[in-house]
Amino acid sequence: MARFLWKLLELFSWLVITLFFWLIPIFFDKEPSLWLLVIIGFVVLFVIDFIFSRTVFRDKEKKCAWCDGTKIKYKLLSGQEGPKLWNSSNKDGSKDKRVKNNNYKASYYSEFECKECSATTKFNHEISSNPSHLANVKQRTLVSKGNNDRKGTDWRIPFGG
Ligand SMILES: [Zn+2]
Repeated sequence: MARFLWKLLELFSWLVITLFFWLIPIFFDKEPSLWLLVIIGFVVLFVIDFIFSRTVFRDKEKKCAWCDGTKIKYKLLSGQEGPKLWNSSNKDGSKDKRVKNNNYKASYYSEFECKECSATTKFNHEISSNPSHLANVKQRTLVSKGNNDRKGTDWRIPFGG
């Protein structure tokens, strides 16, 4: 859903940029050049991307369990998929091999290192057909302590949430 909104926003940004481009001759009484449009376009998209990824689309629970900081970095190769949930499964949950293109969903486990206190936090990500450390967080657990006082907490999504 967020991805769909994002595409809509991108489209809207381009409309605004194009409109701005058309308005330049009216306000400045000269013909704008194409490279100007491209540069303005990229700057505007970059700024909007930056603002939105830090506000609207940011997962608020994806933060350091030690210092509560949000500057955390995915530890390469720390990720691992949870149990596979097949679209068509046998009674015991295993893959139904008779069904072609039988896709699955899975949760995802990953570890992030804090840039501020160097603590390591483990996340359990929501079940997705595209499991990765980018999926929303449903559980946060401290793995190793940071180098200052603890302000953060372990957390898990409330029941029914
Ligand atoms: Zn931290």
